[in-house]
Amino acid sequence: RPSRHLSDIESKLQVSFEFFPPKNDVMEEKFWDSIDKLAPLGPRFVSVTYGAGGGTRERTLRMVSEVKSRTGVDAAAHLTCVGASRAEVDAVVQGYKDAGISRIVALRGDPPEGVGAPFVAHPEGYRSAAELVEGIRRIGDFDISVAAYPEKHPQSPDWQTDIDNLKRKLDAGASRAITQMFFDNTDYLRYVERVRAAGITAPIVPGIQPIHSFKQISGFAARCGASMPDWVAKRFEGLEDDPETHALMASAVAAEQVIELLDEGVTEFHFFTLNRSNFVLALARLLGRRPG
Ligand code: FAD
Repeated sequence: RPSRHLSDIESKLQVSFEFFPPKNDVMEEKFWDSIDKLAPLGPRFVSVTYGAGGGTRERTLRMVSEVKSRTGVDAAAHLTCVGASRAEVDAVVQGYKDAGISRIVALRGDPPEGVGAPFVAHPEGYRSAAELVEGIRRIGDFDISVAAYPEKHPQSPDWQTDIDNLKRKLDAGASRAITQMFFDNTDYLRYVERVRAAGITAPIVPGIQPIHSFKQISGFAARCGASMPDWVAKRFEGLEDDPETHALMASAVAAEQVIELLDEGVTEFHFFTLNRSNFVLALARLLGRRPG
């Protein structure tokens, strides 16, 4: 079991941490508190999300720039193509380049009505993440990550379409895919098999979402088309008014997920922190990460 003999694989293990740009001073304090705890664990990068319609453009740029200058850790800026022309998106990419940001997580984004609504590209905009990756490549030599969906993107009619789309994004110049949250490892492992069978060799990094609040995370999952298995739901049943046991359960569930993946040979992990450090600190420790 690799999880018992981490020292044999420690040099191969990579983690990255995803944050969102804080909206006010209180949230910003929490953001930095979490960054200051997680950055010393030596992540490959810390990424900062982008409001689909560009509403966080300035904040995302400020946070990625400051993460880099304050901690020395590499920062990745998310970027979407919703509601913006190619020229506007290119200007954001140029802004990242000028600020010394060399990593981008390139996404199509969702319409303001949500993931279920059909995506209508800006008349002069990029129409998909694959086109965005091509556009970014024209501007600079960025390290690009794209999104992947172990349960299929809700708008992909079938697996073939979904995997073909992933292939287009990687062929356009992305180096890796980071997955949407998933709670049943079988979905991820089957997906990786499908992807490999299609000749894709790029890393498919599992996106791990600790369930710090079952109510909130099951809502997020439903909105992005990730299923919440009954057996996970049952573990949290009745814990709504017992935050301590809820937190212990959240750690146990996420730890089980990470250890299982590790034992399946997974060596790269992306954690959705929601700007909290506690669960992810513990999970990264399970992967042998220590400050310094
Ligand atoms: P795409 O890869 O473009 O695919 C979307 C759908 O369109 C797929 O079903 C695909 O098959 C289909 N499609 C693509 N090209 C074509 C074509 N030419 N013709 C027909 N169909 C096509 N959202 C944000 O707003 N901000 C973020 O910061 C953010 N970060 C994320 C981070 C991760 C790790 C993940 C997994 C998702 C993130 N998202 C974010 C959500 C993402 O924007 C949505 O999941 C969105 O619905 C799809 O984006 P995509 O990049 O996967 O799109």
